Amino acid sequence: MSDDKYKDLIVYFNGEFVPWYEANVHIFSPAVKYGASVFEGIRSYYNEEQGKAYLFRLKEHMERIEFSQRVMRFAEIAPAGPLCEATIELMRRNNFKISAHIRPTVYLDGAGESSARSPIGQFITAVPRGTPEKVKKGVRAQVSSWERISDRCMPARAKANANYNNSRYAGIQASIDGYDAAIMLNSRGKVSEGQGMCIFMIRNGVAVTPSVTNDVLESITRDTVIVLLKEMGIEVQERDVDRSEFYDASEAFFCGTGWEVTPINDIDGSPIGDGKPGDLTKKLQKAYFDVVTGVTEDTRGWLTEV
Ligand code: PMP
Repeated sequence: MSDDKYKDLIVYFNGEFVPWYEANVHIFSPAVKYGASVFEGIRSYYNEEQGKAYLFRLKEHMERIEFSQRVMRFAEIAPAGPLCEATIELMRRNNFKISAHIRPTVYLDGAGESSARSPIGQFITAVPRGTPEKVKKGVRAQVSSWERISDRCMPARAKANANYNNSRYAGIQASIDGYDAAIMLNSRGKVSEGQGMCIFMIRNGVAVTPSVTNDVLESITRDTVIVLLKEMGIEVQERDVDRSEFYDASEAFFCGTGWEVTPINDIDGSPIGDGKPGDLTKKLQKAYFDVVTGVTEDTRGWLTEV
């Protein structure tokens, strides 16, 4: 297997730093056979003026991968601390002078069956990734006919790879139907999240987002956005959200490590506000990017300099 794009990348694989093509998971592993693995998505932002790269909320992401392992009933746990250290070392070895996306994974290795709980394996990859155009332009979203997995069937609040077969359906359908993104409702018919990102709307001047008991991943960007909105003097409500409330929203946006803060221009063809990124969303985006790139002084310990 080869992919020129990745040919020079170094990855962390079970305690060693190796060229990416040397890092392989066995076909008998429960990770391959049953999708028994958990992961994280972390961004590092390169600030050209400062000549520095910052990992955003590294510790919180690694604490969440520890949590995901416990929720997925792994009997061995890869702890957050060494994963943080390995990530920093990996970033140094790859020496990117641009922004990047980091993906740690802990998986069930060996040759066990679906109820195996050990042994674990671990790897971390880091690949260059900038901010996509859609963050500026905004996206068109579709309320999916695919229901978000509920806590009675899969732990949506854990970042388990197998969960992503649910959002994969929603994402594929949205794309076939000509949309950029999917919004999923949960088993109670309430708004849950996008296919890999959380969702907010501004309604009557208040920022509203589904609470964490609505089958959402307990998102670190969602938490960041709540802090920033409150700092901007905006009231934030975390509660059940009905689909039809979005049709009355003045603004809406997705948020997540990958999606950053992405405006939603319309839902099901019905424009949000005037169908363009809203003023509050744009103000929030500026605050967000100033924080993650180290333009704003890091008073909360969210940045790890590489
Ligand atoms: N929901 C899902 C299903 C996700 O995969 C992600 C991305 N990790 C998010 C929400 C956003 O989470 P975070 O802000 O922690 O990246």
